[in-house]
Amino acid sequence: MATTDDSINGLTEYCDECELDTLHEVSVQIRTESIKKENAQFSREPYRVCECQRCGNRSSQRMNNA
Ligand SMILES: [Zn+2]
Repeated sequence: MATTDDSINGLTEYCDECELDTLHEVSVQIRTESIKKENAQFSREPYRVCECQRCGNRSSQRMNNA
């Protein structure tokens, strides 16, 4: 029988700092970015934030690659 392990909100990904596949905590942040200061126009972009649970290195990546 396959058991579903109730793992934490994590994902095994490669960490540049550890140079290993390590457990990462993944979350999504919405960041407000200004397109042009003069317009005061903002776009809200989702970022995927990964934090290495081994060394604490955080990396964020924009989810919409325009
Ligand atoms: Zn790491």
